[in-house]
Amino acid sequence: MFHTLWSFVTSKIKNYTKEGKKQWLKITISPMFDENGLKVGYSSYRENITDKKELEYISTHDTLTGVHNREYFQQALNQKINVAVRENHSFGFIMLDIDHFKSVNDTYGHAVGDSVLKKATEAVAKQIGVHDTFARWGGEEFIIITPQSTLEAMEVLIFAIQNAIAKSSFDSVPNITVSFGVTLYKAGDSAASIQKRADDALYKAKANGRNCYKVEL
Ligand code: GH3
Ligand code: MG
Ligand code: MG
Repeated sequence: MFHTLWSFVTSKIKNYTKEGKKQWLKITISPMFDENGLKVGYSSYRENITDKKELEYISTHDTLTGVHNREYFQQALNQKINVAVRENHSFGFIMLDIDHFKSVNDTYGHAVGDSVLKKATEAVAKQIGVHDTFARWGGEEFIIITPQSTLEAMEVLIFAIQNAIAKSSFDSVPNITVSFGVTLYKAGDSAASIQKRADDALYKAKANGRNCYKVEL
């Protein structure tokens, strides 16, 4: 008598306790067999993995803005490069930096600076597609990785972000703008080489007077 090949399946589900508290459960379902090897049912085992999930969340998200952090971004970028190599396609990479942010802090104080950062992040996040990666690179700099691999498509995204920032209110702080450095993945790129090109493009956008994007291919 032989048993079915699969022995168990697991799934992770979000659940709420009777008190309304969120918890994560890992459910493992295994088939049960009688003495003749015939499947007679299933048993399930529940494990509370809420602490592990919370730790995972903390280690991949930025505490101030709530978007993904640099560690998550680095992992995501390496993964996107692996897929691009394997499937021989490209993707878009955008570095985004708030203009003259130091003067926001200097003029209005650090707390207002923090609030501007949060609001700018929210405005950008709303323009980000489900297949895009958006992360805080550090300070007032952010990264977008998008499966879009044409400059036209990235231009559309950039205009949408500029528009969203222009329409947002940032407490009493006027004229918040951002600059963008844009590049596309090309064969042979490493995480470092693609970041360097985007950084060079961003530098050019700043030198060009800010509130604009530059492309480096
Ligand atoms: P540029 O247009 O060339 O980008 O000028 P900038 O002033 O934006 O750039 P600079 O690199 O000179 O200054 C960045 C400032 O961002 C300095 C730093 O204090 C501030 N900053 C970085 N992280 C945070 C944060 O989490 N909160 C606040 N309030 N300020 C931050
Ligand atoms: Mg800046
Ligand atoms: Mg900066």
